[in-house]
Amino acid sequence: MAKAKDIVLQHPKDPAVLLDVIRDVQGRFGHVPEEAVARIADHLRLSEAEVRGAVTFYHFFSLTPRGTSTIYLNDSITSWMKGRAAVAKAFEEEAGCPFGEVSPDGRIGLFPTACIGMNDQEPSAIVDGVVFTCLTPDKARAIVRGLRAGTSAKDQVSEYGDGANQSALVRSMVSNNIRKRGPVLFASHEPGAAIRKIVGLAPEQVIEEIKKSGLMGRGGAGFPTGLKWDFCRREKAAEHFVVCNADEGEPGTFKDRVILTELPKLLFEGMAVAGYAVGAREGILYLRAEYAYLRPHLESVLEELRREGVLGRTIAGTPSFHFDITIKSGAGAYICGEESALLESAEGKRGEPRDRPPFPVQTGYKNQPTTVNNVETLAVAAQIVVRGADWFKGLGTPKSAGTKLLSISGDCPRPGVYEIEFGTTVRELLELAGAPEAKAVQVGGPSGSCVPRSGFDRKICFADLATGGSVIVFGPDRDIFEVVGNFMDFFIEESCGWCVPCRAGNVLLKKKFEKVIQGRASEQDLAELEEWGKLIKCTSRCGLGQTSPNPILTTLQNFRGLYEAKIQKGRGFVPDFDLGAAIQEGCAAANRQPECKESLHD
Ligand code: SF4
Repeated sequence: MAKAKDIVLQHPKDPAVLLDVIRDVQGRFGHVPEEAVARIADHLRLSEAEVRGAVTFYHFFSLTPRGTSTIYLNDSITSWMKGRAAVAKAFEEEAGCPFGEVSPDGRIGLFPTACIGMNDQEPSAIVDGVVFTCLTPDKARAIVRGLRAGTSAKDQVSEYGDGANQSALVRSMVSNNIRKRGPVLFASHEPGAAIRKIVGLAPEQVIEEIKKSGLMGRGGAGFPTGLKWDFCRREKAAEHFVVCNADEGEPGTFKDRVILTELPKLLFEGMAVAGYAVGAREGILYLRAEYAYLRPHLESVLEELRREGVLGRTIAGTPSFHFDITIKSGAGAYICGEESALLESAEGKRGEPRDRPPFPVQTGYKNQPTTVNNVETLAVAAQIVVRGADWFKGLGTPKSAGTKLLSISGDCPRPGVYEIEFGTTVRELLELAGAPEAKAVQVGGPSGSCVPRSGFDRKICFADLATGGSVIVFGPDRDIFEVVGNFMDFFIEESCGWCVPCRAGNVLLKKKFEKVIQGRASEQDLAELEEWGKLIKCTSRCGLGQTSPNPILTTLQNFRGLYEAKIQKGRGFVPDFDLGAAIQEGCAAANRQPECKESLHD
């Protein structure tokens, strides 16, 4: 059996491979032992603190054992809505340990994890790297029993999902759940067509076409893609890079999973188009750890494209056009969806956001100009090049051209992926998903907006409801406070910890929120919730902190009545804990009752 030393020595002496080394060690030992930390540091000429810093940053790495088999159960709100509690209980009973621990025999480790991109088929879990969907308590027990009996997680999957999920290199139970095929992403595409088109144009002409189309980034921020490519191309540097952000971690988002599964050729061709436009020879697909099961499939598609001449050297006979793509894997960190944090992670470091400026188009991967684009954006770019900017602009609204791929989940009978034209209303989405009676819809994940029924005529577009793709439906009986609490816990867990407003502010905000829902708050507390939320937004360093109070702020705005029903009216200050209850144990031990009991409950 390979020792830590042997595993480490298989890798080049390059600090950029740090995450790959850690991943291999973690895979072999179930954690990163102290001895390995020292060896990795020595081999890559890093300090042990840097190695430990990387291990402790990512969810799927650990300095302490995580069990011979490790079960990561999705902790997103949709998973809760679909029966996660009962599944978690079954796992705990069968494993013999609570979540966050390893069973006494060391065989099974149970850990919660943030959204794994399966919200259309919850509850879901990753067991030793294998995705299990639509879990029930019985299935959970069977998985643990099977692992203990020596049946690997892989061998416990006997039924596969649809499409490429059934292919030899995927063999996954994940289903695509494509519910609506729109006119852009799901239009027919002949592999190589975009490449043949661009080699007849100058790179600047390709950029102009993308600018003219009005394509805006599909990851959520909505920055004009042509402009980003233009900025990147204009930077004078030894190298330029194209990085595809395949780290969709916003709870409720899973649409990139479907593009990666079913449309990888379109995506990779889009990356080659971007490479031609900005003058890059190298592209990197940063693939979230949760989608590692797709990596062999993606590697095989890359090989195919090299054979077909879509990637490689002298593409389409053009002497100056060389472009190839490598895949880098994440290790579980929502913040790595932020482009500068993603670049840090791709360079083998903790995924902490960088100060901006300089922007990645100026100083990106390896400090070279880099365009970082979302999976959907790049796939759409390939279609625009083939079909033309005017065709694309004819879809959607005047200010939000084209279509948007949405991931719809929650309280609806038809969860899945929908390609809709921009301008579609929330009400129309609910009709499509079969949930017209919904009480509210979370658009854009926890960092987005909780839209009440009165807002169902609002439109999905950049000028109104912008979203990276997450749409979560809440039915008439759903407890909005449970949703808000889950979202706040998510941000607290995923904060990288770099700046105080985000690291500490969100904890304080959540405590204040709990005070409200426990009925121990006054009007002053509601005002402070709002004030603190705004403060965190405007003083945090990156998008995570700048949007983290949104679950509270948007529900305060749209469901104010729910909050007001919880507060003690006419009171200036209400203590946030029950003093009487806190001293009850001591009073019982002393056989005394507190005097003025009433006042202690104030
Ligand atoms: Fe890190 Fe949060 Fe600060 Fe962003 S806002 S840098 S995630 S602590």
